[in-house]
Amino acid sequence: MTELCEICSNSIRGQAEIVEVDGAVFRVCMICSKLGKPVKKPKEIQFKRQALPKIGPAYKKYEESDVELRRDFNKEIRNAREKKGLSQEELGQRISEKLSVIKHLESGTLKPNDILSRKIEHFLNIKLLIPQEDEE
Ligand SMILES: [Zn+2]
Repeated sequence: MTELCEICSNSIRGQAEIVEVDGAVFRVCMICSKLGKPVKKPKEIQFKRQALPKIGPAYKKYEESDVELRRDFNKEIRNAREKKGLSQEELGQRISEKLSVIKHLESGTLKPNDILSRKIEHFLNIKLLIPQEDEE
């Protein structure tokens, strides 16, 4: 697509020059660009700010964060553990928790606190803490 010079109407080869003539800004060809003051092209500034994780530090309490323990956390844990081919005992050893803790977690009688949740999430590569908005 060829752009036309806004002053002489000739097609512009390559990139249009942006100049200011009598306070007006034109997109012009190289030749006409000498008629006006060059205007700095607006840079497409991309804010490549590091996306802050929604979930705060691991030590954040539920009350302060916008995540909560999913209701089927026990199934999640069991499924993920079985996928890894680990026994409850082995999982306990890996995350330094007692076998009884794992058993209670998987039966749903024990809710992991946030720290334990993070540990399990990390080890089993699952999500136990989910944004509250996603809850019905
Ligand atoms: Zn021109």
